[in-house]
Amino acid sequence: MAPLKLHVLDCGAMSCDLTWLLLKAGRTIRSRGERDRPVEWYPCTTHAVVIETPEGRLLWDTSCPRDWEKRWEPTGLQEFFPYDQVSETEYFDSRLHQIGLEIGDIDYVVASHLHFDHAGNLQLFKGSNARLICNDKEKAFAFGYDGLFNGAHLKADYEGLDFETVSGDTEILPGVTLIEAPGHTPGTMSMKVDLPQTGPMIFTSDAIYLGDSYGPPASPAAIVNDLAAWYSSVEKLRGIAESTNAKLIFGHDAAQLRSMKLAPAGYYE
Ligand SMILES: [Zn+2]
Repeated sequence: MAPLKLHVLDCGAMSCDLTWLLLKAGRTIRSRGERDRPVEWYPCTTHAVVIETPEGRLLWDTSCPRDWEKRWEPTGLQEFFPYDQVSETEYFDSRLHQIGLEIGDIDYVVASHLHFDHAGNLQLFKGSNARLICNDKEKAFAFGYDGLFNGAHLKADYEGLDFETVSGDTEILPGVTLIEAPGHTPGTMSMKVDLPQTGPMIFTSDAIYLGDSYGPPASPAAIVNDLAAWYSSVEKLRGIAESTNAKLIFGHDAAQLRSMKLAPAGYYE
C-alpha cells in the first residue's frame, strides 16, 4: 500500500546571513570589487510534512517553536537566526490544525535531525501516543554532550523524550524510506516518499539546504559537522534522485518551498 496524501506545512521563515547556508564565491564570498556590498540576508524557510498512509500518519520534522527567542537564548543563535518571518497562521501548531489534525492524531514523528529549527515542537508530543524516531547517531550525539546546548542542538527541545532509533536506510512505512545522510549533523536523515500520482519525492532536510547548495558541484555551508560526510551524502542523494527520477525538496530553500502545493490549500498524492 502506498502513501495516500502528503501535506507540506510552510511554517514561515527565520532570517539569517546567507553565508550560514551557502559558501559560494561570487554570492556570499566576495571578490575585491564587492568587498563593500552588504551581506545578503535570506528568508530561511522552515517546513514540516505530514504523510497519510494506510498504516498511520507520519510527521516529518516540527519546525521552530513559538517561544524561540527565549528558548534559543542560551545558544546566542536567536540573534543570528531570528524566527521573525512568521505569522499566527504559519506556526507549526496552527498548520497542523488547518489540516484538521491534533497532536493525538499523529502516529509517527520523525526528526530529520535534532537542531532547534527542526525539533522545536517535539515536546508537544510528550505523553502522546506518537512514536518518536530519529537516527541512532543523532540520538547519541544529542544526548552525549555536556551542558544545555551544542551549536544548534538544544536539550530543552528533546530532553525527556523517548526516541526509537533507525540506522542506515530504513523503509519505515510502505513507500516511506528514511535515508541516512550525515554530515550536517552526525545523524541527519532525508526522507523519500513514493507517491502514486506525483512519483517519488525526497525531502532532504539539511543534508541539502538549498538548490544552490546542490549544484553540481555541491556548495557547502558554514554549518557542517563533517564536511567529507556532507559531500558524500549530497552525492548519495543525487544518485538516488537520478536513478528514481525523484523530486528533491531542499531543507531551507525559500523560492522552492513557496512554489509548492502548500497546506491547507493543496497536497500531493
Ligand atoms: Zn540543521
